[in-house]
Amino acid sequence: MVLMSGSEYRESLKRRKPLKVHFLGELLKNPFDHPIIQASVNSVALTYELAEDPQHQPLMTATSVLTGNTINRFCHLHQSTEDLQAKVKMLRLLGQRCGTCFQRCVGMDALNAVFLTTYEIDQKHKSDYHQRFTDYMKLVEEGDWVIDGAMTDPKGDRGKRPSQQADPDVFVRIVKRQKDGVVIRGAKAHQTGAINSHEHLIMPTLAMRNEEKEYTICCAVPVDAEGITYFYGRQSSDLRRLDHTREGDIDCGNPRYGGQECLVVFDDVFVPHERIFMDGESDFCGRLVSTFAGYHRQSYGGCKVGVGDVLIGAAATIAEYNGVGTASHIREKIAEMVHLNETLYACGIACSAQGTQTLAGNYLIDLLLANVCKQNVTRFPYEIARLLQDIAGGLFVTMPSAKELKNPDTRRILEKYLVGAEGVNPLNRIKMMRLIENLTLGRAAVGYLTESMHGAGSPQAQRIMIKRLANIEEKQQYAKSLAQIEE
Ligand code: SF4
Ligand code: FE
Repeated sequence: MVLMSGSEYRESLKRRKPLKVHFLGELLKNPFDHPIIQASVNSVALTYELAEDPQHQPLMTATSVLTGNTINRFCHLHQSTEDLQAKVKMLRLLGQRCGTCFQRCVGMDALNAVFLTTYEIDQKHKSDYHQRFTDYMKLVEEGDWVIDGAMTDPKGDRGKRPSQQADPDVFVRIVKRQKDGVVIRGAKAHQTGAINSHEHLIMPTLAMRNEEKEYTICCAVPVDAEGITYFYGRQSSDLRRLDHTREGDIDCGNPRYGGQECLVVFDDVFVPHERIFMDGESDFCGRLVSTFAGYHRQSYGGCKVGVGDVLIGAAATIAEYNGVGTASHIREKIAEMVHLNETLYACGIACSAQGTQTLAGNYLIDLLLANVCKQNVTRFPYEIARLLQDIAGGLFVTMPSAKELKNPDTRRILEKYLVGAEGVNPLNRIKMMRLIENLTLGRAAVGYLTESMHGAGSPQAQRIMIKRLANIEEKQQYAKSLAQIEE
């Protein structure tokens, strides 16, 4: 099986050993029957469903360089700058279709980063990680797996190194070595799509030092491996999803799709040798971290732009429903939203077009431009959301519940007073207001706003990379040369 259908993907999740998932005070018996979790599965399933659709196949699929098979682009090692651009376009498409985080990109980014890093480690250390990883890649492609790229450790006291922490487990580390592999302990925080994945691809969270060898581990474990516990993150307004009525759906804003973030705890999890892709080579930690982060910062120039398209569409629609669709100040604001959104896209495309081939053969984005892309993403979506809230008016946070529509007496009153432009069905206006609430304050705001701030590294992480990659000295030379300064 190389391309799974959406329903085969759903089945594949249920075929795994039972997962230990804690959510809202319960250890869930059947996590995938939970409505909040189902919405997040729907988002990932879309990455399979669109790959089945002939209209989207050119974007959603690629030809494997390892086997020649047609595979889902999320399992693909980028082979050209066109591939890198296709990735950004694919993520934009998915953002437009689900209006939230569809979770699968982190894995694609991790696969490409580990592929190039293992090659470079082998060159220097004469190890055999790259062959191991290539064999693993073939399984990923063949199984059409979702991979959780697991990088972020809880980190404890941010002022201290991993080995200086009061509790050493706040960074994932090797606690035992065996003949056939290693045992790891620790946790990974805010793991996007953790239980909707098939495997965790674990990477060090920062550039480790020589003496931090036990923390310098990159490896893969199945999501249902013995010793893993999941703490499912709750998000704003999530309980609205538990109301299984048409009215509940209206109050949800985006009834079908949601994101997923988990704290994943590895309590002595065994990793066999063949799934270890770095073990102590701290000189390559920085390379792995910066390339993974770079790929994921590129991703945001696609996915957030797609969700931005939904916000722009919502702004234009609610303006019409409010009867001000043609007002010049509204058009101005919408033009500003488009300008900001397309600027993000331009960065995503630019860092892809300027990509280069790595020693391993896959393509890497331009790291400086990818960091600039993500730095813009930490700002522009907030302004786009602010403009949408401005255009919508305050009703999206003061509206009575849709349950009031059930009773004909209260419905009549709501329809009378929540009416907008002539000829617009008040129910449609209510639905659009709820979507706006979802996108800018509710569950999707986690993906569109907070994740824009902190996902793929908080703003300061990009500024460090921008300073490192900017080559200020060269720019000084330009200035000195024009001023005819000779030193
Ligand atoms: Fe993909 Fe965007 Fe979600 Fe990251 S935030 S996993 S890039 S959809
Ligand atoms: Fe993310």
